[in-house]
Amino acid sequence: MMKTKDSPRLWMYAGSQKLYGPGPLKEVHRNAAAIAAALNDAPVITLPVEFKGVLTTPEEIRNSLAEASSSAACAGVIFWMHTFSPAKMWIRGLLELTKPVLHFHTQFNRDIPWDSIDMDFMNLNQTAHGGREFGFMATRMALQRTVVTGHWQSVKTLDRIGTWSRAVAAWADQQGARIARFGDNMRFVAVTEGNKVEAELQLGYSVNGYGLGELVARIDAVEDAAIDTLVQEYQDLYEVASELRKGGARHQALRYAARQELGLRAFLEEGEFVAFADTFENLTGIEQLPGLAVQRLMADGYGFGAEGDWKTAALVRAMKVMARGLPGGTSFMEDYTYHFEPGRERVMGAHMLEICPSIAAGKPRLEIHPLGIGGKSDPVRMVFDTPPGPAVNASMVDLGNRMRLIVNPVEAVAPDEPLPNLPVARTIWVPEPDLEIGATAWILAGGAHHTGFSQAVTTEMLEDYAEIAGVELVVIDRETRIRQFREQLRWNELYWRLNRRF
Ligand code: MN
Repeated sequence: MMKTKDSPRLWMYAGSQKLYGPGPLKEVHRNAAAIAAALNDAPVITLPVEFKGVLTTPEEIRNSLAEASSSAACAGVIFWMHTFSPAKMWIRGLLELTKPVLHFHTQFNRDIPWDSIDMDFMNLNQTAHGGREFGFMATRMALQRTVVTGHWQSVKTLDRIGTWSRAVAAWADQQGARIARFGDNMRFVAVTEGNKVEAELQLGYSVNGYGLGELVARIDAVEDAAIDTLVQEYQDLYEVASELRKGGARHQALRYAARQELGLRAFLEEGEFVAFADTFENLTGIEQLPGLAVQRLMADGYGFGAEGDWKTAALVRAMKVMARGLPGGTSFMEDYTYHFEPGRERVMGAHMLEICPSIAAGKPRLEIHPLGIGGKSDPVRMVFDTPPGPAVNASMVDLGNRMRLIVNPVEAVAPDEPLPNLPVARTIWVPEPDLEIGATAWILAGGAHHTGFSQAVTTEMLEDYAEIAGVELVVIDRETRIRQFREQLRWNELYWRLNRRF
């Protein structure tokens, strides 16, 4: 992700107190400014970091944190207790703070200067106890935050803050974000349902429905010249099946797919939407289920969920923002079919059409095939495999009294053989810790068949995102054992029932 001057920023504050006198406080200021500059210069930290001062009184703290909360320029705050900052001073400020918090537990000097250390040095390098005082108050106030301990010049420490900065970027993107829903849910489906009020309270985005007629009007209004240009782009970018190419028997279907993409894109741009959901059961006035159009829009950063699944659309968008600038793609995904060969158990993920080409290995092929459901014309779609390597699957479900984010790291693997008769994009993976425990735990947690799949996003980014959002996080990984997992879900049930904010 490029840091630009328009990016929302991370505001860094150092905590101290007047007791130290003006001389030492100047040094606190210098040290904190140097650390903020180092964070700002670290490429792994994806948002600019701005040093906003040393806070030494309850009034300064309250005013500064009220400003951070109300400023659109501030995406999150980083606190560093350089020295001892008595934490009752922080109560009013922290009560007003609404932005994501990182408590940076670092120290200006990496090492203890064994031969020269004296009491002056000790009094100016007090993170070890100053951070604990702040930590107590944050815990006492049940403040959602990420704590990072380590020296500010260590690569590992900077990476950890970088991970958090990606979660903050996704969070900032979702606040006030607009998600368009065309049609309602696929009929009778449960897991894609959810409470849109709860989602907006917890996660900040707003989901609203739009009539198909509004979209159809945009699609019908697309001009032929624009279609010509886009069809040429398809032919340049992808391996286009000969029947779809200019002069081919089904070229009109490709032209219609281009029309659909341009109309859908115009609708989303005009409404400033960041994600959308559609459903094959409600396509009145549309000739094909949007396949290629959805794939191309996802590749440009839009979140998407099929069959009315707005929760997954929002999650895919969040994951795309987290992943910006990293190698590896992010897509809407569905656990489709299993391979139960003993010792080589794996999952094939795919969808009817809508998998993002950001996870394609090589050049996607543009093909047209019948869909079999929905009763519409054959849709055009990109077909491809996914490169092997580590990935993650994530699902947000609405349990009635709360949202739960379920995360499962997986290993994408190559298919055993080519799949000449499978007319959709697909991914093969082995879930952690294995298919048996991974799928059993996923089902016990109520995870959906739809997921956000990413070869760039990590479990830790999603963990930070869940912490910022204040939603339950359930991770299924190498540590997962079913008996403990069941108990964890039961304890969580109790905690989240007692912990309701609204
Ligand atoms: Mn589906």
